Amino acid sequence: MSIATELATLRDRFAPTDRMPLVFLGHGSPMNAIEDNAYAQAWSELGRALPRPRAILVVSAHWMTRGTTLVDVSKLPKTIHDFYGFPQELFAQQYPAPGAPDLAREVTTLLASHHAEEDDTWGLDHGAWSVLLHLYPEADVPVFQVSIDMGRGLDYQLEVGKALSDLRDRGVLILGSGNVVHNLRAMRMGGRPQDFAVEFDTFFADRLEARDLKTLTDPAKLGSLLRMAHPSVDHYLPALTVAGASDAKDTLTFMTDAIDLGSVSMRSFVFHA
Ligand code: ZN
Repeated sequence: MSIATELATLRDRFAPTDRMPLVFLGHGSPMNAIEDNAYAQAWSELGRALPRPRAILVVSAHWMTRGTTLVDVSKLPKTIHDFYGFPQELFAQQYPAPGAPDLAREVTTLLASHHAEEDDTWGLDHGAWSVLLHLYPEADVPVFQVSIDMGRGLDYQLEVGKALSDLRDRGVLILGSGNVVHNLRAMRMGGRPQDFAVEFDTFFADRLEARDLKTLTDPAKLGSLLRMAHPSVDHYLPALTVAGASDAKDTLTFMTDAIDLGSVSMRSFVFHA
């Protein structure tokens, strides 16, 4: 090894990594994985704008656990096609990014007080790969998922985010994938945005901007509006993980704030240091 290479290696080892941004993407229909629409284009653009992460930690609405927070430690996370009634082209999609087993094990330790356990059976569900396909189409950044514990309150997910926040200084991109409003029962093909959907979506954005995370995690304050926007909170929780990993010094930027099919908010947001 030449002296120049040695110096470069040393510099790389000690160079402080810039604090990584945090990303929440409203993923909506699995078809967004293969359609060239405004969402896909916005996600591709975002991928080009983001600093290249060392690894990506994904919290997806589609990996739900109860009583534990599972962390996928597999070497090669498999692409899970967790949906029905979609075209063959969607089932043929693969996202062959490597896992990050060492980092994932560290995250299990980091989340020890959140009942974290290692898992090697999951992989990447469509909440993860349908957006990753656009963010990092080369599938060359190591990626692993962390589950959401459906047996806890909303504030619990905020705490999980907080526990993960230091990873931002180590080049890890924390990516939440869900929807700010997600009521499939109220969905209408080609339907105009429903009042409750617009109301919750706007309220969420306003409270997030004000860093009023207490209100966003208080079911009593959110009341019936929360139950309309999220008959089940699975698609809401990843937004709270991302909010929990943010701090007052971050700048918040919203993207693609449309309501699809009357009751699915496609709002995405990025926190950057
Ligand atoms: Zn979903």
